[in-house]
Amino acid sequence: MRYEMMLPHQIRTAIDGRWPVVLPLGVLEYHGEHMAVGMDTLAVTGVLARLEQERDLVILPPFYYGAASYAVEPPERMGSLHVDAEALAPFAKAMFLGLLRIGFRNIHFIIHHQTENFSAGMPTDLAFKFAARQAIFAFLEKERGEGWWGAESMANYYAQQSSGDDPFNWIKAHPLMIPSKMEGYPFDHAGQGETSLMMDLYPEAVDCARIADGKWYTGSARDASRDFGERGRNLILAQLREAIR
Ligand SMILES: [Zn+2]
Repeated sequence: MRYEMMLPHQIRTAIDGRWPVVLPLGVLEYHGEHMAVGMDTLAVTGVLARLEQERDLVILPPFYYGAASYAVEPPERMGSLHVDAEALAPFAKAMFLGLLRIGFRNIHFIIHHQTENFSAGMPTDLAFKFAARQAIFAFLEKERGEGWWGAESMANYYAQQSSGDDPFNWIKAHPLMIPSKMEGYPFDHAGQGETSLMMDLYPEAVDCARIADGKWYTGSARDASRDFGERGRNLILAQLREAIR
């Protein structure tokens, strides 16, 4: 269900049922002349819309205003919209704190932008990961008081770490694609992989007639197809079914 469309009784059902609550996190960034600037975020919302058809899921309104960077193109007349990670972290902390206050304990965010080396992190996901940790510490300290971790009730903390009972599992970060699980489906920027995925999820966001010469990263987009994108989507879905529980 889309969070903004939920009635309070449905929200309470989601809390009590420990439904995953998922934030599509992304950017607005130049993706060649042939693709919409929302690509990295649309890829997440498009796949989540499919996942939602098969299970209980709360999808938060997507956040598009991440740190796109101007590494691909300067913004003037090209469309990339960059917000510094330093500005994102306080916003994200407040948002996560708000979600914890509502009662959600199974929160996830999924990001596709700059995730080829996800464990090391990039500015947008690092800001949200940092904010998630800060929000959890702030929430626990307010709810349980200082010394909450050292209290006797936490004696089995290390045993619970892998389960949902560990507060630090309340908010999890995921890349949309895990390269080792993509079976050779290419990870690129506006190339065959992303263009195909967009043709499958939001065909209106692609105009293949506009694939431009002179950009090394869009050359492979000429090999894009809707069928190939469907393959990518199915690989992503298989991986998300495991990650989002
Ligand atoms: Zn992209």
